[in-house]
Amino acid sequence: MAIRQLTETIINQIAAGEVIERPASVVKELVENAIDAGATRIEIVTAGGGKTLMRITDNGSGIPRDELALAVSRHCTSKLTDDVHDIRALGFRGEALPSIGSVSRLSLKSRTADADSGFEIGVHGGRVEGPRPTPMNGGTIAEVRDLFFSTPARLKFMKTDRAEASAISDVVKRIAVAFPHIRFSIAGSDRTPLELNATGAGSAGMLERISQVLGKEFPENAIAIDAERDGVRLTGFAGIPAFNRANSLHQFAYVNGRPVRDKQIWGAIRGAYADVVARDRHPVAVLFLNLDPVLVDVNVHPAKADVRFRDPGLVRGLIVGAIREALGQSGIRAATSGAGAMLNSFRLGGAEPARADMAGQRWQGAAAANQKYELRQSPYRPFDLESTSVRNSNGFAETIHTFLYDGAEAVAADTRAGTAEIPQELLSAPLGAARAQIHANYIVSQTADSLVIVDQHAAHERLVYEALKNALHSRPLPAQMLLIPEIVDLPEEDVERLVAHAETLSRFGLGIEAFGPGAVAVRETPSMLGEIDTQQLVRDLADEIAEHDTSHGLKAILDHVAATMACHGSVRSGRRLKPDEMNALLRQMEETPGSGTCNHGRPTYIELKLSDIERLFGRR
Ligand code: ADP
Ligand code: MG
Repeated sequence: MAIRQLTETIINQIAAGEVIERPASVVKELVENAIDAGATRIEIVTAGGGKTLMRITDNGSGIPRDELALAVSRHCTSKLTDDVHDIRALGFRGEALPSIGSVSRLSLKSRTADADSGFEIGVHGGRVEGPRPTPMNGGTIAEVRDLFFSTPARLKFMKTDRAEASAISDVVKRIAVAFPHIRFSIAGSDRTPLELNATGAGSAGMLERISQVLGKEFPENAIAIDAERDGVRLTGFAGIPAFNRANSLHQFAYVNGRPVRDKQIWGAIRGAYADVVARDRHPVAVLFLNLDPVLVDVNVHPAKADVRFRDPGLVRGLIVGAIREALGQSGIRAATSGAGAMLNSFRLGGAEPARADMAGQRWQGAAAANQKYELRQSPYRPFDLESTSVRNSNGFAETIHTFLYDGAEAVAADTRAGTAEIPQELLSAPLGAARAQIHANYIVSQTADSLVIVDQHAAHERLVYEALKNALHSRPLPAQMLLIPEIVDLPEEDVERLVAHAETLSRFGLGIEAFGPGAVAVRETPSMLGEIDTQQLVRDLADEIAEHDTSHGLKAILDHVAATMACHGSVRSGRRLKPDEMNALLRQMEETPGSGTCNHGRPTYIELKLSDIERLFGRR
């Protein structure tokens, strides 16, 4: 076949293959155009998941009659002059409209402020018709029907109407977060309508828009971020660790106002939360990066969702540092959503029989979600512990309080706390004064205006974990010699792996050495963990190291070793605590960054405000 120039329509269809993947990509391009045109109201109507119809109406500047034909021609844009590195609009490639027009029936109606009528131009499978006059208000109406009718192979890849409709909502929400001053609405036969009213300016307006999109619990479960390094500014909100989700759809990132889906940014968010959110859970975060446009290349992919930073290390460091600092400064905060769910359940329960079923379902849902985090049932023996001094990363001494099991005395502990005088000074502490221990695992405490329930196992595990991690950056942890070394039989690979990390383990106070090919001898155990099931600990450690050895590097292994040890050394549920011990635990939680969640990302405590309790009883 002889070489020949492709037709304009074929060229556009090829481009469409990259820009227009599914209906949501069309909506993204058209909404971006409306925003670039200065619109303050953008209405979106869809049918058949966007496959049948997508109509985007805006009140922006409009397109003059004489430019309509250019708008739907390839490589025609009003947004770029001579410098492709200086991009300030969402669009710049001049590709979207011709691409869409080549694979659908596109109608573009527009009216500028000074025109006495609107004009319409049509592109049907690449063929242009018009412009001809049409009555309309100022702004632009872009209507796309029968997407991919001319490229049936593409149609086969479309998902169900419902899936495509929800992908469209996701795209719109993602864009809307960056433009709170614009009112967005989505409606159509294929969905429940969504309206995002324009909010005020500044960070308050931003937060309001985010909560329209992410739910009204977000603000109380998020910490504001504002950091800058070498001309790169990072603002936004980081969800507290306990407010985590099962997927990463609730992570939003923007570079100079443009929504991006960038692996480096996701990686940085993951890194920032690595210690506090379980690996199969995802934190919620909304991050805005602003930097000189010349420091970032947005022209990496036709869909403009990828970016390339000139200094990726700087951006990563900024994100990780800012989120960690925010989480640290905020101290301990548990998710309020837990208490909210509890309130809801209370309200539903018993009131009317018909709704009692719903309460049942709610609980089933909650139980199913919880099974994911199977709490390691601790098979270990009770232990006696004392206070141990360690030095934290700043060189300050810290005391790890540990809890002495004291059979006879402790039995009465829970009742005794409740009847004792409340130490007034403790009421103003964030976690308040311990009043009782119930079901041998939950510490109930009282602050000036709330009731706090602490999961003592989860909380203590977190505290031990933090202390272990501190030990990594300072002196090795104290070890306790075993009179008779304990021999643990293991597969040879496990022995090799453990021995390879013997030096690291000794920093934690665990002294092991090879004992023939199929066993290790344990000579010392970390004093902080007290009397533990050494066999089980060593086996668990071997598993952890095996799992993380190849892929994750030393840092990850250390974290997992610390977590495994923490789990072994924690106050188990079932241990009764004395009032002093309970209060000591609360005070230590207050002092320890990150103690609002356990190592698995679950909350370590929940708080119920007095006002909520009053609501439960109908007093308000
Ligand atoms: P790009 O956005 O990359 O410039 P498009 O193909 O999406 O390319 O749009 C081509 C041109 O059409 C834009 O540069 C803009 O001038 C004009 N245009 C498109 N949509 C609108 C709109 N909703 N309001 C005003 N002008 C628009
Ligand atoms: Mg565009």
